[in-house]
Amino acid sequence: MGDRRAVVIGAGITGILSARELLLSGWDVVVLDAAHVGAGSSSRTAAGIRQQFSTPGTVRGMRYCVDFYTRFAEETESGESPIVQNGYLFLQADDAAMEAARARVAMQQAVGLKEVEALDADALRAQFPWVSDELAGATWCPTDGFLRPHVVYSDGAARVRSLGGELRQRSPVTGARVEGGRITTVTTPLGEVGGDLFIDCTNAWTARVGALLGASPLEVAPLKRYLWFVARGDAMSGPTLSSMPLTIAPSGAYCRPENGDTMLMGKKHKTAADRDFTYDDQDFVQPDFSHRAGIDAAPFSLWMELAEAIPDLADFAGVNATTAGYYATTPDHNPFLGFDARRPNLIRAVGFSGHGAMLGPFTARVVQALADAGTNLDEVLIDGEPVELGTFALGRTYDHREAMVI
Ligand SMILES: Cc1cc2nc3c(=O)[nH]c(=O)nc-3n(C[C@H](O)[C@H](O)[C@H](O)COP(=O)(O)OP(=O)(O)OC[C@H]3O[C@@H](n4cnc5c(N)ncnc54)[C@H](O)[C@@H]3O)c2cc1C
Repeated sequence: MGDRRAVVIGAGITGILSARELLLSGWDVVVLDAAHVGAGSSSRTAAGIRQQFSTPGTVRGMRYCVDFYTRFAEETESGESPIVQNGYLFLQADDAAMEAARARVAMQQAVGLKEVEALDADALRAQFPWVSDELAGATWCPTDGFLRPHVVYSDGAARVRSLGGELRQRSPVTGARVEGGRITTVTTPLGEVGGDLFIDCTNAWTARVGALLGASPLEVAPLKRYLWFVARGDAMSGPTLSSMPLTIAPSGAYCRPENGDTMLMGKKHKTAADRDFTYDDQDFVQPDFSHRAGIDAAPFSLWMELAEAIPDLADFAGVNATTAGYYATTPDHNPFLGFDARRPNLIRAVGFSGHGAMLGPFTARVVQALADAGTNLDEVLIDGEPVELGTFALGRTYDHREAMVI
């Protein structure tokens, strides 16, 4: 293909879906992963997917992602759907919070998310009888939900191969050759890999990989995040649990069914950036965050905090597992999507905070549009609608902080 060879670095959801999109646009593609497909955050995620955001461009982008994921099974060999559309329910504690929520719903509806609605206290209780009667209301979007992330990256990897892409696992990028500022090849222990275009999809590793490539430093902090699993026992019925939406309490604590017997829950906590983490560190659980640490530890308090919003949870049998991984957090919680200022043939698609699994299809569309243009763009057309890319630009000044972060 002459000058259309792209090297994707990182085989998580971002790298795999970007590779697929580039192949469909006529690029030759090789994907390199230091470990294996899904070795990073993509296999450690709560995988919530929502269109309820506070940035209009992100709402538009997320509409595209939900649509993409509902159709993804049509092109994969397994035919398994990666999305469970149980909805997202943002609970609101008081009238002031409800007023702000109504304003967000109006913006979201104006940019095309017609099915989102604000529920007052009575409507909330009528539709979701298991919520506390202390709440002022909620916002509700029935087409939101959560993903089965392994379906995205495993079936996505098979799709990349079937489209003619090459996938090299256990191939860490350790350096690069550069001519006139442009990367010509990246180095791996198995040899050099040449290309016309390179795409950094290493998310929490981006600072280290960027330095190896001579790229610009980006403000991306790897922050530890935990998930806990609560056994239902005899509380609530299995079908009621498995049909519940992803529910966010006013405190920011969230939960969603993992299956009919288990609730997954999480909440962000204050922590320092772990810049030199190893692959094993991803799964390391600090003692205070373990489900084994008793009633003074974080998971027990979180369980009780969520039970204030969903009283039936108090009767669940107990927290029986902890998993962990890294968010790659940016100052405004929006990712960096664009060409690197120091390496003009390097696209960075990193810094997804808690949103990289859901944003995957949008990210891949932006990567493909940038790759085809060969330069940064002000906007990208998604289903005929312009989405402004300034929100995601590498040199932005963080004027708009995404307000809906969990
Ligand atoms: C606890 C938790 C909950 C989350 N909840 C949600 C949620 O509800 N919804 C949501 O959308 N997102 C959520 N996220 C975030 C989401 O999981 C990530 O944003 C997303 O998985 C990032 O995907 P990625 O492909 O960009 O990165 P990753 O999946 O981390 O992939 C990066 C890849 O780069 C590879 N790599 C690293 N260094 C090199 C190198 N030198 N050479 C080659 N390859 C390299 C790694 O091996 C890895 O496979 C959550 C994350 C966590 C940890």
